[in-house]
Order: sequence, then structure tokens, then C-alpha cells
Amino acid sequence: MSQDGPLDGLAGPVRMCVGCRSRAARSVLLRVVVQDGVLVPDHLASLPGRGAWLHRDLQCLDHAERRRAFPRALRVAGPLDVTSVRVELGNDPTSAGTVPGDD
Ligand SMILES: [Zn+2]
Repeated sequence: MSQDGPLDGLAGPVRMCVGCRSRAARSVLLRVVVQDGVLVPDHLASLPGRGAWLHRDLQCLDHAERRRAFPRALRVAGPLDVTSVRVELGNDPTSAGTVPGDD
């Protein structure tokens, strides 16, 4: 519970981003959890279970995905579907695809 130590220059609890592995204040990171084998954003950092922390940055998501950091951090069998988190970070692959013409 209270294992957050003080860190130079940062106030409040600090977490490590699973993407770039740098430390940052909780407030600038997004907590993600696994629900039914799918990685989902936990906006309020209130969902039960093990969580992982990630910068709100697609590069960090890509890094974490490539290194399979999520299954490791969350102690689940991978791979995980990160679509929800990717959408959360602003890059929705489904919206960039073909949309049925409607003219
Ligand atoms: Zn990061």
C-alpha cells in the first residue's frame, strides 16, 4: 500500500511506465488493467486487481506491446488485446480503415 517513496523533483506517488520504463507521477500516467483477457484503461485508477501504468503516449504503448510488458506486469497469459487502450490514446485503427461509401 504505502510503498511509494519520495523521488527527487516529483510530488506524490510515482509509478513506472511499462512502455519506456521511466518513472513519472501517477497523475500523468494511465492505469490499465485486464478484464476478460482484454487490456482496458482504468481512468479512475479504481478497478480491482493488478494494474500497469503507462504514459498517455502511443510510443509507450507500442514499446510495451512489443516487449510483452503487459502480460508480464499484470501476471496474465498473453498476448493481450490492447485495442481499448490504443483507442484511448487517440489512434483508432478501425476508424482509419475503409468506410463503406455513402454518397
Ligand atoms: Zn512511457
